[in-house]
Amino acid sequence: MSCGNIDMGCTKCRLSEKRTRVVPGIGPCDSRIIFVGEAPGRDEDLKGEPFVGRAGRILDDALREAGADRSQVYITNLVKCRPPRNRKPRKDEVVTCSSLFLESEIKRVSPLVICALGQTAAEALLRTQVGMDDCVGNETAQTIAARSVKVFVAYHPAACLYQRKNLPRFIETVRSSLEAAGLSVK
Ligand code: URA
Repeated sequence: MSCGNIDMGCTKCRLSEKRTRVVPGIGPCDSRIIFVGEAPGRDEDLKGEPFVGRAGRILDDALREAGADRSQVYITNLVKCRPPRNRKPRKDEVVTCSSLFLESEIKRVSPLVICALGQTAAEALLRTQVGMDDCVGNETAQTIAARSVKVFVAYHPAACLYQRKNLPRFIETVRSSLEAAGLSVK
């Protein structure tokens, strides 16, 4: 189920014009960890659930390797509508959507850990520009939506599809973030 207040008919930004549906986060509202991606893609726009396509399978596999599964964690995106042709969401779209809906999800779930999946999510959550190769795996203490959280930065799972060399560090970061959240890890 999704948590927080998500307007399933939102028209606050231009992404509403081309989407099929709003894609809210999914997972238990008492999860200790939230995984935050960039934006829904084609599969997500059709199904209404985050990370259900090829990138989602990479995330599922990493969770499973660490001894967890998607039903134990909350998974969402910075923006809840698919950008046309999967372009990156623009700054104003990220600010509008995340200040309305991601913040509401974070307040409701109140996680110990947030794992940012990819550069766009990392930059929005850390409020600074990052170079992925330097900061993947890093953990920082942040206050987000009035909650004290540990933020981990992971490669975006799609970046592991195209560059298999990223996969071991991606799996390792998923494992460390689960461990920091107190989920039992293999
Ligand atoms: N990529 C994302 O960032 N989010 C999804 O939900 C799917 C692919």
